[in-house]
Amino acid sequence: MSDYKHWKLDTDENKILWLTIDRQDSKVNSLNDEVLSEFNTILDHIPSQKPAGVVIRSAKKSGFIAGADIEQFVQIKDINEAISLLRKGQKVFDKLERLPVKTVAMIKGFCMGGGTELSLACKYRVALDDDSTRIGLPEVKLGIHPGWGGSVRLPRLIGAVKAMSVMLPGSAIRAKAAQRMGMVDAAVPERHLERAAVSYILGKTPPRQLSFSEKLPSFPLVRSFVVNMLNKQLRAKKVNPTHYPAPYALVKSWAAEASGGESAYITEANSVGELLITPTSRNLVKVFFLQNKLKELAKGVSFAPKHVHVIGAGTMGGDIAAWCALKGFTVTLQDREPKFIAPAIKRAYKLYEKQLKEWRPVQEAMDRLTPDPEGLGVKKADLIIEAIYENLEAKQKLFKELEEKAKPTAVLASNTSSIPLAEISTVMKDASRLVGIHFFNPVAMMPLVEVVKSASTDPEVVKQAIKFVSLISKSPIPVKSSPGFLVNRVLLAYMTEAMSMLDEGVSGPMIDKAATDFGMPMGPIELGDTVGLDICLSVVKNLTAAFGGTVPTTLVTYVEKGDLGKKTGRGFYAFDKAGKPIKAAVSGTAPADLQTRMFGRMLNECVACLREGVVENTELLDAGMIFGTGFAPFRGGPIQYARDRGVQNIVHELQELASRYGDRFKPDQGWEMVK
Ligand code: NAD
Repeated sequence: MSDYKHWKLDTDENKILWLTIDRQDSKVNSLNDEVLSEFNTILDHIPSQKPAGVVIRSAKKSGFIAGADIEQFVQIKDINEAISLLRKGQKVFDKLERLPVKTVAMIKGFCMGGGTELSLACKYRVALDDDSTRIGLPEVKLGIHPGWGGSVRLPRLIGAVKAMSVMLPGSAIRAKAAQRMGMVDAAVPERHLERAAVSYILGKTPPRQLSFSEKLPSFPLVRSFVVNMLNKQLRAKKVNPTHYPAPYALVKSWAAEASGGESAYITEANSVGELLITPTSRNLVKVFFLQNKLKELAKGVSFAPKHVHVIGAGTMGGDIAAWCALKGFTVTLQDREPKFIAPAIKRAYKLYEKQLKEWRPVQEAMDRLTPDPEGLGVKKADLIIEAIYENLEAKQKLFKELEEKAKPTAVLASNTSSIPLAEISTVMKDASRLVGIHFFNPVAMMPLVEVVKSASTDPEVVKQAIKFVSLISKSPIPVKSSPGFLVNRVLLAYMTEAMSMLDEGVSGPMIDKAATDFGMPMGPIELGDTVGLDICLSVVKNLTAAFGGTVPTTLVTYVEKGDLGKKTGRGFYAFDKAGKPIKAAVSGTAPADLQTRMFGRMLNECVACLREGVVENTELLDAGMIFGTGFAPFRGGPIQYARDRGVQNIVHELQELASRYGDRFKPDQGWEMVK
C-alpha cells in the first residue's frame, strides 16, 4: 500500500493493521471527500492483505473524529447532490462493515457525528474512560440527522429506544455511559486502551447482540406505540416540527425501516438529503460557524491568566467567581464582609455538585475558590472583575484603589450593565486599562459575554479580555461602551414594545405565544418576570433617557406594587410553587401586527447598533442575538432573517408601523448597510 495524505498504516507483530487517521493541515480529524476517498481505497486493499484485524485510531490530540466536514454542507446545491454525498459516505462505511476481518474503533477524545458513524460500522468499539472523551451523534443540532448509516446502525446495535435517546437530543456521552448503553464494548483507562483493542481482535468475544427487550420496539405492533411516544416526547420538549423538522424526520425514517435492511440506508439518505436543503439546516449550520467565529476572536492572543479576583459577591460577582473556579482558575472573592460572601460559596458548591458530580473534582473546585474579605487577592491577580453595586461613585473609588494596588499587567474589568466605562475611568491615571466584561444572569447558563470597550480602552486589553472569556468556555462578543451595549439594548426595545401592548390590553399569554411561535425560547412578558420587573424598569429608564421613547405604564404600576416577578412570586404573572408562571389559556384573535411590532422594533434596534458601531458587523450581531437572547436559531439571527424576508419588505413594514404607532418604528438609516 502506498502513502496516504490523511491515513497512516502500520502492521504489528500480531499482524494487526493499525489504521491511524491524521487529517493533513488540520488540528482535528473531520471527514471530507478526500479523507473518505483515501479510506475507501485502503478498505479495498485490506482483504488481500489478510491482516489479523484492523484497529482504527487517531493521531490527533484533539480526539478521534469530529464528524463530517461541515464546510461541505454549505456547498450543496440541491437534493440530488445532497443524496449522492450521503450515499457515497454510506457505501464507504458499508465496505468497512463488510470487511472479512475483525475491526475495532479505538476512541480517545471527541468522537462525533461521522466519526461515531464510522465506529458503528466497526465490529467493536473501545473508548478511553477520561474527562475529555465524548461520543455522540449531534446532527440534529445542524437541522439534520445521522446520514452515513448511523441512524440505521445505532438502533441495530443498542435498540431503538436507547438509540433515539442519543440521537434526538444530539447529546455527547461519556465513555462509561456509552459502555452501559452498549454503544462501546469497553471503557478503560489509557494504560489499557490499546490492549483492549487488541484483545477484541485476538480474542473470541462475539460482537454485541441485541437483547429481546432491545429488539422489541422494532416489532410492527410495538413500533407505532414507540413512534407515538417519541413524537409526544418531542412535543413535550416544545420541539416545533415546522421550525425543527429533523428529530421528527429521524423518528419517521426509523419507523419506516425498523428492521434495518438495505433499503433503510436509502431511506436515511433521502430523509437527510431533504433536511440538508431546508432553511433550518442552512441557518443552523450558519450558527455553528458563527460560534466558531466567536471562538476565533481569541486566537493568537498569548494572555494566560491564572488568578482571577472578583469584587462584589452578589448575584453576579458570586456566580462569576464560582464559574471561573469551575473552569480551573484560582479565584479570590471579595465583598465588604464575610457574611456577604458566604451565600456565594454555598451556591458555588451546588453548581459544582451539579456539574462535576463526583466528590474529588467538587472539592478541588471548592479549593480553588477562596473568600477574601480583605482583598488580599488584588495584588496577585492577573485579572480583576468588579461586580459591586451599580453606583458610579462606588465604582470610581474602587478602580482608583485597584489601579494603585493591582499588578501593572493585571486586566481591570467592570461587569457594569449601564455605566459608561469612560465615566468610571475619569478617576484613573490610565483609563486605557479599563475594559468591560459583561456577563448575563444566570452566569452558568448564559453562553455569551460582552467585552466592552470605550474610546480609551487599549485594544490589547480588549484582546486579553476576549481571550479570558474564551478560556472560561464562554463566547465573547466585542461591543462599544454605549447605553445597554448590544444585547440589553435590543432585547429591551422588543420587551418594551411587548409591554406597551400590555398597556393597550393585549393579554400576556397572547403576546408570549406570538414570540414563542416565532421561535423565541420564552415570551417577553415571562422574560420580564424572570429577570425581575425592577431590573427591567431601571434598564428601560436608562435606555429611554439615552434614546427616547416611553416607559410602559403597566411596568411602573407592578414595580410600585412590589410585584417584581418570579422572585416575589407575582409580577405580570402569578407564579406557582415550582416557580412556573400561571398563564390563562389564550382566547380570541391576536392583533394582526403583534409579531411584526415586537420583531420590527428588535430588528430596527439591531440595525441602529450596527450603524453606530456598537457591534462591528452583521455576523457578530447575529451571533450576539442568538447566543445572548436566544433569538430563534433556526432563523440564523435577526439580520439573516431580515435578508431572508427581504430587507425592502422589512423597511416597508416598519414604515407602515411608524405611520400607525409613531416614530419609534421609523426605519433606521442603517438599513442601507444591510444588503
Ligand atoms: P448585588 O447587589 O447582588 O451585589 C453587589 C455586591 O457588591 C453586594 O454583595 C455588596 O455587598 C457588594 N459591594 C458593594 N460595594 C462594595 C465594595 N466597595 N467592595 C466590595 N463589595 C462591595 O448586585 P448584582 O446584581 O450582582 O450586580 C453587580 C454588578 O453587575 C452591577 O454593576 C450590575 O449592573 C451588573 N450586572 C447585573 C446583572 C444582573 O442581572 N443582576 C447582570 C449583568 C450585570
